[in-house]
Amino acid sequence: TMASLPETMKAVQIDQTGGVDVLQYRDVAVPSELKEGEVLIKNEYIGINYIDTYFRGGVYSPPSFPYTLGREGAGTIAALGPGTPSDLKLNGRVAYFSVGAYADYVRVSADKVMPLPDTITTKVAAASPLQALTALTLIREAHPVKAGEWILVTAAAGGVGLWLCQLLKAVGARTIATASTAEKRELAKQNGAEVVLEYHEDNRDRFVDKVLEVTGGKGVAAVFDSVGQATFDSSLKVLTRKGTMVSFGNASGPVTNFALGRLADKNLKLLRPSVSSYITSREELLPYANELWNFIEKDGLSVKIHEVYPLKDVKRATEDIESRKTSGKLLLKP
Ligand code: NDP
Repeated sequence: TMASLPETMKAVQIDQTGGVDVLQYRDVAVPSELKEGEVLIKNEYIGINYIDTYFRGGVYSPPSFPYTLGREGAGTIAALGPGTPSDLKLNGRVAYFSVGAYADYVRVSADKVMPLPDTITTKVAAASPLQALTALTLIREAHPVKAGEWILVTAAAGGVGLWLCQLLKAVGARTIATASTAEKRELAKQNGAEVVLEYHEDNRDRFVDKVLEVTGGKGVAAVFDSVGQATFDSSLKVLTRKGTMVSFGNASGPVTNFALGRLADKNLKLLRPSVSSYITSREELLPYANELWNFIEKDGLSVKIHEVYPLKDVKRATEDIESRKTSGKLLLKP
């Protein structure tokens, strides 16, 4: 079957870290050999994630160069390697987590591939592996959310943020959502947030006071904070006693030099989780994927697509997500 594939394809690579100008849209070889347990996927949509900007910009280090960016997508299986699970079929529709996703074809270990039910569109599927499954692992494992709890979500109109708002609503939590513009806050509300707030970047105490006011002086049971450096302190301040600080992203820069003693006043829990450390095998992936597809079908969860960009327009897409002007999901179309 590999014989029927083209020899070259388009991909987005970097040869060094830096600004958007390091992004190279170029011809590369289509992966020609599949190892035990691998499949070749023809992308229909590729998901853009904020983490792609960390690898391009140097916040995280690519293991080697040239490095093909991208960590997720959805499409069809173009070839099966030896020893792949029987639920993965040639031409079957799938979504996946994998490095090297910004390309026409990508070679992926079956451990990272989810077959798609007919009810899930390929667009929704491409928007799900990183952002939706992150949101789901956060509410199930980082802080197992209970109905009636107040939860704070930062960057609530972003990719992960809108999934969090919807999932929290579906499980009966009460969400306070922050986002930088009135339009984004309105979107968070439409996606299930009960209260929306601006960050008050010039006066974070004002933000803290507002959250305390909303929660009757008690504070929130957990914060899901993806902004990092800029919001870390105010997020700690709005937690209730024995609350949980879940710091899962660095959009404003990473949190460093944290003195553990700061947790003692309120006996707070602090986590810095990664979805790829919650989902490490097929046994961990498939139940989460099925739970997500069920939420989408039964609770009517949906994805707001910000824009579908042609793969060759990757620079513009990257500038857009870094500009804070986007909401929901950005997709690339090969
Ligand atoms: P988003 O769509 O949420 O885009 C990032 C958002 O962060 C912006 O829209 C913006 O929203 C907000 N933001 C706040 N401060 C800044 C800043 N200084 N510069 C840029 N943006 C800023 O991206 P994703 O949904 O892809 O990711 C959200 C976060 O979750 C990221 O930090 C990402 O790294 C993290 N993440 C972590 C995972 C994990 O496993 N730990 C997995 C997936 C994502 P606003 O303007 O409203 O503030």
